Amino acid sequence: MKHVLLAVSGPSGVGKGTMVKTIIERRSDVVESVSCTTRPPREGEVHGKHYFFLSREEFERRIQEDDFLEYDEHFGNYYGTPKSFVRETLKTKSVIMEIDVVGSLEAKKSFPECKLVMVVPPSVDELKRRLSGRGSETEEQIQGRLARMEYELSHKHLYDYIIVNDDLEKAIADLCKIIDGE
Ligand code: 5GP
Repeated sequence: MKHVLLAVSGPSGVGKGTMVKTIIERRSDVVESVSCTTRPPREGEVHGKHYFFLSREEFERRIQEDDFLEYDEHFGNYYGTPKSFVRETLKTKSVIMEIDVVGSLEAKKSFPECKLVMVVPPSVDELKRRLSGRGSETEEQIQGRLARMEYELSHKHLYDYIIVNDDLEKAIADLCKIIDGE
């Protein structure tokens, strides 16, 4: 059985995190990719599980060695997906990365076998309802997320697969079919 690397993107609130988490709980042949970061570990975070915590020097050395599928800086720290980890893991399992559109497109450039999956809501109105329903964000934050969503959805045509998350179990089954069919 061939193992695949999937980059799963989609607007905030679309349910991609739940889909990925459920698949990883149910299937022993699929794991989530572990990123590298230069930010210090938070309480309870484990090196090699939540992230690989690296010094800035080490991270920059690995950038020079071309060891990242993609990397970016957030809040003054580097974050990146290590090629070495992905390559090694793909020998025995499929790997899912939950990643934004920019990171996905970068990853595809440096690792063309990577399949890009976008999870979309049944409708923009439905996503607005879900975001408002969470009650965890201010109106301004919701507007920011909606603007980001328009941006993400405008890249749909660059993706290998689109999954409409109308029904969670069906969306999970669709993602499993992509893993098994590749
Ligand atoms: P946190 O420090 O809260 O764990 O993550 C901060 C930000 O870094 C989040 O937006 C998260 O999605 C992003 N991030 C985590 N890992 C990676 C990665 O491997 N690559 C990129 N480009 N961003 C990442």
